[in-house]
Amino acid sequence: MPLLTTLTTHWSAITTTYPPGAIEITVAILSQLLGFWLISTLYLLLDLLYPSFSQTHKLQSSRSQPSRTAILLCFRTVATANLSSTLLHLVLLHFTNYKLTLFTIPSHLPTMREILSDFLYALVTREALFYTIHRALHHPLLYRHIHKQHHSFTTPMALAAQYAHPVEHLLANVMPIVLPLALRRAHILSFALFLTAMLLETASVHSGYDFAGARRHDLHHEKFRVNYGASVGVLDWLFGTDVVGWDRKGKGKGEEKKEE
Ligand SMILES: [Zn+2]
Ligand SMILES: [Zn+2]
Repeated sequence: MPLLTTLTTHWSAITTTYPPGAIEITVAILSQLLGFWLISTLYLLLDLLYPSFSQTHKLQSSRSQPSRTAILLCFRTVATANLSSTLLHLVLLHFTNYKLTLFTIPSHLPTMREILSDFLYALVTREALFYTIHRALHHPLLYRHIHKQHHSFTTPMALAAQYAHPVEHLLANVMPIVLPLALRRAHILSFALFLTAMLLETASVHSGYDFAGARRHDLHHEKFRVNYGASVGVLDWLFGTDVVGWDRKGKGKGEEKKEE
């Protein structure tokens, strides 16, 4: 396969030319740009360029959509948070001379079997971590001081996926995605695929559209104490917090009161 041979040659050259820390931060930035910023921009453009299509496919009514001011505030906050964490990552790598990485960077590409095994393991572990931490963040004490910021969007949009208090961003967004594969010392490209897929998933479940797999998490933003899980949802089913369909007029089963 010529494409595979070309990719292997390029990857091998990258691993011998650049230090591990430089490869790690490049992978992190590219995943964030592709999986989060690009897809979030496309969802926003859909609102602007195709308003009638957008209106037909929005899960919540046009009256409850975020205002222009809210979108701009969200953009500024998320962009600042992204730049700050990249800067912090750079400082940490600088002090270790770019020699350290949480992952493995061999000169060969990961095998398909390795990628699938890493993906499945990380997906299950991330779901367990995210569900537990997210549910804890709904405890009144933590909610008021931390999680309320993310819930200020009762009608979410893709960019709002990362609109969160820094503590929440670290504990609920970053850690459940990074830790499982860091503990396994996975191949960095296998991690990059998982990270990009999860960023794409978080942007999509916040998109507010009925075709992007957003129904479950959209209901979490609208109704608060349901659907705590990420993409899998099995823990919601197990612990009885699962709500898949909802009568939007407010007659869904077990409607919970909104958080203060
Ligand atoms: Zn929540
Ligand atoms: Zn959310």
